[in-house]
Amino acid sequence: MSLPTATTLPRVTILTANAGGGHRTAAQSLAEALEGQARVSFLNLMDEHAPFPINAWSDMYGPWVTYAPHSYHLLYRLAHNRARVIRVARLLFPYVKAAITPPLLQQEADLFISVHPLQTDVPLWILRSAGRRAPFVTVVTDPVTPPPAWFCPDVDLCVVATEQARSVALASGLAPHKVQVIGLPIRRSFTEALKLSRGEARARVGLTADRPCLLVTGGGAGIGRLMVIARALARRLAGHPVPPHLVIIAGRNRALARRLRAERWPLPVQVLEFVNNMAEWMAAADLLVSKAGPGTLAEAACLGLPILISGFIPGQETGNVEWFRQAGAAIYEPNPERLAHLADELLRPGNPLLAQMAARSCSLGRPHAAGEIAQAALRLIAVPEPV
Ligand code: UDP
Repeated sequence: MSLPTATTLPRVTILTANAGGGHRTAAQSLAEALEGQARVSFLNLMDEHAPFPINAWSDMYGPWVTYAPHSYHLLYRLAHNRARVIRVARLLFPYVKAAITPPLLQQEADLFISVHPLQTDVPLWILRSAGRRAPFVTVVTDPVTPPPAWFCPDVDLCVVATEQARSVALASGLAPHKVQVIGLPIRRSFTEALKLSRGEARARVGLTADRPCLLVTGGGAGIGRLMVIARALARRLAGHPVPPHLVIIAGRNRALARRLRAERWPLPVQVLEFVNNMAEWMAAADLLVSKAGPGTLAEAACLGLPILISGFIPGQETGNVEWFRQAGAAIYEPNPERLAHLADELLRPGNPLLAQMAARSCSLGRPHAAGEIAQAALRLIAVPEPV
């Protein structure tokens, strides 16, 4: 038997978008899992090919959900009806068709995987009406309360992370045999970080091991009231018996990073913009403060990191809070002062609740989900009969 060479490997196109960080890291995780088994390319129709204002959606996403969460939620609720979503998509289709069709049809893919809810129905219409029959897979990155826009019944496979999401898929018209509950794809660096001791991870990120580490994040776009939260945490933790390392990752929110850096803090604070080694930072941390971003929660669970959830994007992230809270892996506290109090308590030496939350968080982790999804997707590609 001869092994497949690079040029005989199947071609896989992953449809993704830049909004937040979760879609991008899901795409990256799948590409890593397909390495050596497929030739992968990425296609971002929304941000790189669609006309204005669709191509501005991803850039608007961070400021929109931070400063006008209620209007975002209103849109989410309006979109919580598949028939309505399809009506709007059909209305907009003539406007986007000319721009997105050529780059899509240029892809000579044997398999398409979409990790974005707005890049399922429309690309499938284009592909199928051009006679392209390559299997199409959706990997749903909203684990508990996904908007119905994700669930195009014509896909060949739809991967979700929980039974709740499976119910939404079925209610949206997907045939049961097309829906698989696997998990959220996690980047390889997280499974690699599982092998690191806390001390090794600390050394990698340049932190000493003599004090706890509290990591604060707001997804890829630095979403949430991170400035207010950071101030409350710093005030409270400055009086901690062993003041922790306070590390704030502002993601792509440069304005927030600038404001955080300009602040005079009562304890040493490290402010970072977008980091590519989140796995090492999480492995180095004792406790995470974050909004209920699905990618971040799944990654923290992979490493057994306890979480204080400081907020959530109404609608798509609502279910994530209960998912982690009910499992005992996270505590939800939207009030920054009370959140700081909790962080202070949890980081007291020997607090048994922190260890308990870490174990619960670990139990939710699916470190090998990306590999399992890759295998399920590759199985859809018809293997030619030997001649
Ligand atoms: N992330 C990262 N570096 C950063 C900030 C975030 O790699 O500096 C990653 C994070 O690890 C996660 C993703 O961005 O994989 C954020 O996804 P999530 O679903 O939590 O929230 P979103 O950004 O999509 O709102």
